[in-house]
Amino acid sequence: MERLKCIVCGKGPQILDSLCDKCLCERRKFIELPEFTELTVCAHCGSTFVGKRWLDTTGLDNELADAVRRALKENRPEGSKITTDIKLKTVDDFNTDAVAEAKVTVGKRSFTQSQKCRVRVRRAVCERCSRVRGKYFEATLQVRAAGRKLLEKELDLVRRKVRELAEGHGDRDSYITNEAERDGGLDFQLGKISVAKALSRQLADSTGGRIIETSTLAGRKECKELFRVTFLVRIPNLQPGDFAKLDKSVLLVTHVGHGGVPAMDLASGEQQILDEKAEDRVKRLGASELIEVAVVLEARKPELQIMDPVTYGTVPIVAPEWFWSANRKKIPENVRIIKAGEDIYLVPPD
Ligand SMILES: [Zn+2]
Ligand SMILES: [Zn+2]
Repeated sequence: MERLKCIVCGKGPQILDSLCDKCLCERRKFIELPEFTELTVCAHCGSTFVGKRWLDTTGLDNELADAVRRALKENRPEGSKITTDIKLKTVDDFNTDAVAEAKVTVGKRSFTQSQKCRVRVRRAVCERCSRVRGKYFEATLQVRAAGRKLLEKELDLVRRKVRELAEGHGDRDSYITNEAERDGGLDFQLGKISVAKALSRQLADSTGGRIIETSTLAGRKECKELFRVTFLVRIPNLQPGDFAKLDKSVLLVTHVGHGGVPAMDLASGEQQILDEKAEDRVKRLGASELIEVAVVLEARKPELQIMDPVTYGTVPIVAPEWFWSANRKKIPENVRIIKAGEDIYLVPPD
């Protein structure tokens, strides 16, 4: 059956409303756009104000196209399909011209219709940037080491963790307003209390540190009291591999963990965990630079006769159980030792 011809031009086949695609396009607007639309962009971070809130930037072109899509009205006749493509052309920093091209499909036939619109870009300062620039903060995170400065690797670790957690999660209320090296440690001012708290936990876990939390009244806002919270992370003086003296025992720090410093008593070979009081009392002797290697002359459980590598004299030492179980088959020719005052202790292998 032959299709009926358009009632206006009498040429093309009828598509909709007894009209051909050309006449249809002239008489009917399938998409409508206002002459102007607006997009509010933060002048500092590029985030955009959409609806009632600020959103992180996804790239200006995306956002300009989205602004056009929000302004676009579709008049879709029943049984048809419209897909719209938006093309942008920058005029200047504050104006972009957009062309929306709609592909209208009715049955098996399709045609295009386009509309123009200018997007005016309004520059503003988002809430987050105004807080950051106004140095507004809720919490201070302080990281210090007991009785010493932070080591270079600790400074790196702390900085990396703080950046990852405070700025890496797309939470717009979380930011760092200030970072400073102070008293051999680091201070950060953070936008969000919960982030500072989570950070202090992570840092304490990875360094074996303890957290001391204090808060002060910073003022009032709309009848509500505003508190500033300080989280102090105190990293212990001792590091894994350190030798230390506690009362009469000589200890080797085995690893770091939260809630105390695990250490081995070198005389007995027993593990213990130093609590906060012990940490304050303990005296650090040094680390691997204290280790010497001595020749084993004779071994008869529980005693070893070794040759002092400095005096070449023969010295008896009592070897703890770990030594005998580690060397059940064969006694090694050399052992690692440290000297603390008059005493010599066996050091377990790494
Ligand atoms: Zn026609
Ligand atoms: Zn901003």
